[in-house]
Amino acid sequence: MAKKLRFIIIGAGMAGMLAGIRLKERGDHDFTIYEKGDSVGGTWRENHYPGLACDTPAHSYTYSFATNPEWSAFYAPGPEIRAYFEGVADRYDLKSQIEFNNEIAACRFVDGRWRVTTTDGREDVADVVIAATGVLHHPNVPDISGLKDFQGPVFHSARWDHAVPLDAKRVGVIGNGSTGVQIVSAVSKVAGKLTHFLRSPQWIMPCPDIKYAEEDKTAFRDDPAKIEEVRNGPDAAARRARFTAAIIDMDSPELEEIQTICERNLEESIRDPALREKLRPDYRAACKRMVFSAHYYDAVQRPNVDVALGAIDCVEVNGIRMKDGSFHELDVIALATGFKVDQFVRPMVIEGQEGQSLEGLWQEHPRAYYAVTVPGFPNFFLLNGPTGPVGNFTLIDIAEAQWDYADQLIDLIRKGDCDAIAPSMAALEDYEARRTEAAKRTVFASGCSSWYLDKDGVPQVWPWSYDYFRAVMAKPDLGDYEMMQGQ
Ligand code: NAP
Repeated sequence: MAKKLRFIIIGAGMAGMLAGIRLKERGDHDFTIYEKGDSVGGTWRENHYPGLACDTPAHSYTYSFATNPEWSAFYAPGPEIRAYFEGVADRYDLKSQIEFNNEIAACRFVDGRWRVTTTDGREDVADVVIAATGVLHHPNVPDISGLKDFQGPVFHSARWDHAVPLDAKRVGVIGNGSTGVQIVSAVSKVAGKLTHFLRSPQWIMPCPDIKYAEEDKTAFRDDPAKIEEVRNGPDAAARRARFTAAIIDMDSPELEEIQTICERNLEESIRDPALREKLRPDYRAACKRMVFSAHYYDAVQRPNVDVALGAIDCVEVNGIRMKDGSFHELDVIALATGFKVDQFVRPMVIEGQEGQSLEGLWQEHPRAYYAVTVPGFPNFFLLNGPTGPVGNFTLIDIAEAQWDYADQLIDLIRKGDCDAIAPSMAALEDYEARRTEAAKRTVFASGCSSWYLDKDGVPQVWPWSYDYFRAVMAKPDLGDYEMMQGQ
């Protein structure tokens, strides 16, 4: 008879919800999802800035088992995605097993089980912990001199203050990753004047702006094969293959093709040669996460929009001073300056089977064997953990594949083959050595700064093909695992 296990899932975002749903489907009903926020959806709850959308095709950005014919556009707006996750949580009756507003402070593996403490001092115990905390949830507020003294409102993109009116105001947006580009595209329509502060320009991949009419939705409703076509049809497969080939080999013809598309987009879209040169990056396309936008180049050519390229010297009470001495008077500053991406499960205290801390293992940078498991930390599984695939893939597919991998290991415990399982340190070290070597050949290492790089400039990402990722996740190599009895 299968052993009944108790699970604790950390985070009710996309990946934590996935774990809960999959457990229920298996008949593993003894689990609690701890969520520090007051609702599900993770990043889609935290981000609600103007222009928020997902630049992955909406039909691909769903669970494989809960597709959605109702998307209003090829690229879904953020509020619709949040509503989707709310709807899925209701459909799978997950909320009754989620402890909202309850943050986990520590997880300690003691006498074969995980003892978990919440920040309000409560305790819980489980056989298995699934850490589904996400990556992009600790805002990076830049250390710019004078920022605190600015007389107007200042907020990070993930803490957008909708009470602050923007119409007819002078708005400064710092940062031009995917977030900054989406904000500028939207806010430029309402601001009196918008200044976009770019420390370094971005390549912009053009993309279609397709809205779905009622008849399109009916067609998706009536024929699920149409949804499958968007998710996995020839176009999607070709896009994925092209992108994979481009990122894992900086000398590939596929990257050359992406480069050409981005260069043509810049040449054909920006009329003023001076602005065009301002917006031309000096590194390769896809070196930073590729920014997709149908509207950004139009936005920066509006008469009320100014692009300030270069380093910021300081913030003064009424605006931003650049290192070149120029000054931009502002009423509001929005920080689209990204996230502290090396956090993952931090600041939680995680202690393994010898009482050792995860911090110790992660001193250099966060590490996990094939991005999912950690030596010395049995029955502990990360979804969307460190060194998984990044770029413009859908993180939902990635989490689903990682769940299938984790579930096969958990099944060994269910079946009584072992009580606890963790990879060996040798396996992690071998994985890291191979991964690091391959990462140096990826486009992310081709000469730009980005959140993919660690402090030594090595991309902390999956450096191989997406097909290889799927193959590895499909069947764990048990030779790399230590299976323990009577822990
Ligand atoms: P990001 O890609 O890390 O970009 C941060 C931006 O802030 C960069 O332009 C950076 O400049 C700038 N910056 C940081 N510190 C600065 C400083 N002190 N002075 C001036 N500029 C500064 O962050 P993000 O745009 O929030 O995106 C993060 C990730 O979220 C994305 O890569 C993506 O994975 C995800 N995302 C996805 C979508 C989607 O549609 N799927 C949308 C938004 C976000 P440098 O480039 O010069 O460092």
